[in-house]
Amino acid sequence: MVLVINPEIEIKNSPIQGKGLFTKVPIKKGETVWISEGEEPYDEKIYTDEEFKEFQKWCIENGKEWDAVANGDGTHTAAISEREKHPGNYGNHSCDPNMGKGYVALRDIKAGEELTADYAQFSTKDWEMKCNCGAKNCKGTVRGAL
Ligand SMILES: [Zn+2]
Repeated sequence: MVLVINPEIEIKNSPIQGKGLFTKVPIKKGETVWISEGEEPYDEKIYTDEEFKEFQKWCIENGKEWDAVANGDGTHTAAISEREKHPGNYGNHSCDPNMGKGYVALRDIKAGEELTADYAQFSTKDWEMKCNCGAKNCKGTVRGAL
């Protein structure tokens, strides 16, 4: 199954860091925001010649790089080489996030707002990150809560 990104969400440069997820439409408090559906072909898989052509085409269309080895019997072992490019990973951390667990909107979100989550709730205690979110209650350093 090929990955589909919610057409109402766009990935663009974020004032927080790198790229972020931005909603094009207003989201009501309590709504679940879906970012993407399906899976990217990250895991190494054996493709027939025809499947491999589809895989390459998909990668090119989606701006992905891949690693591939021809197996000599008409099949190819291939996978996307850049894991960090998963769209869900573009969601930036904020100390004052607008999405909670399960991407549920914590408040009304306006069209054009960046979608953010508190990384602490997805991370283990040995993890920390300097934060640049700009929220009034910014902790400066974010530490995992798990
Ligand atoms: Zn912060």
